[in-house]
Amino acid sequence: MTGPTVAVLGGGQLGRMLALAGYPLGLRFRFLDPSPGGPAAQVAEQITAAYDDPAALERLADGAAVVTYEFENVPVDAARMLERHAPVFPPPRALETAQDRLSEKTLFDRLGIPTPAFVPVDSEEDLRAGLGRTGFPAVLKTRRMGYDGKGQMVLREPADVPVAWRALSDGAPLILESFVPFNREVSIIAVRSRTGEEVFYPIVQNRHEGGILRESLAPAPGPTTPAVQAQAEEYARRVLEATSYVGVLAIEFFEVGGRLVANEMAPRVHNSGHWTIEGAQTSQFENHLRAVLGLPLGSAAPVGVSAMLNLIGEAPPLAAMLAIPGAHVHLYGKSARPARKIGHLTILAPDEQAIIPSLSRAREVVRNSG
Ligand code: AMP
Repeated sequence: MTGPTVAVLGGGQLGRMLALAGYPLGLRFRFLDPSPGGPAAQVAEQITAAYDDPAALERLADGAAVVTYEFENVPVDAARMLERHAPVFPPPRALETAQDRLSEKTLFDRLGIPTPAFVPVDSEEDLRAGLGRTGFPAVLKTRRMGYDGKGQMVLREPADVPVAWRALSDGAPLILESFVPFNREVSIIAVRSRTGEEVFYPIVQNRHEGGILRESLAPAPGPTTPAVQAQAEEYARRVLEATSYVGVLAIEFFEVGGRLVANEMAPRVHNSGHWTIEGAQTSQFENHLRAVLGLPLGSAAPVGVSAMLNLIGEAPPLAAMLAIPGAHVHLYGKSARPARKIGHLTILAPDEQAIIPSLSRAREVVRNSG
């Protein structure tokens, strides 16, 4: 007997980890990705074609119990077309909102979720006028297709205006945001099932460098965490319910003086949730699959304290990573390339005290590669 097939748009590492989480449940996977031989294709069937190839989309959905995505910049029209063949979750409307920083921030605003001050920018005049609202410093970003810090620049003084405009405009719509002097960055992974059941993982503290996530600590340490956890859950619940969401939703926040300011959301499993593979009762990947298939959700409770370190550019020697107590290695089957996420390392320990020596060693090992 064979289990239901889950069809997935995108075939990167998130897809690979979805498949690896779904196999013990008897699920089968079929991916669509324009590049051959990627992380998901190494562990599952893949159709290699453009996301807007109608015949490929039809083959993807053929006989599938559900269609989902692991890459958020897939064309919304493709997701809508697939709805004629199979249920598509998260809802394409949520995907559409998350693809545009302006509509995302407008949604947060409408739901009473604090955001940095923001203004749409379509001309250099808009940019100058917008700076009147945000002041300096401010961050100019492309509204679409930005990820890992790409497509954004910080403006510190008036002389930066023409430079930033020239670097980013290129006909693409932009958004200007006030720069948030945050104490730290945190994120929440929330899950809502087709049945309306919801679970929330403990918030995670994230450290980015050059716009790329380097390290996540889970649960987020520190005295403000309980109050901030409640805020994060409340804000995530508003988004889940306003968009009739199904699946995993990640929201990234800035924490400023014990209050959360929303930066962005991702309608998919998220890098800041990779620790859940070993560090939570149920991983974000398994809970995403349970949610989109309408199965009961699993507990999001942590099983200890976790630190997740991304392997960026080049992986350290496998033996060096495996020699760290409590280390779990995940390599995505990608070739080394500067600034590319090629794997991650999770360190699991019983408590915050116990993780310190392993985490220091892991930082050392990771620093000496990449
Ligand atoms: P993003 O692509 O929007 O997630 O931005 C990548 C990273 O840039 C964030 O994780 C922050 O570290 C930084 N950043 C982005 N927007 C702002 C902002 N408005 N204020 C301060 N830092 C920001």
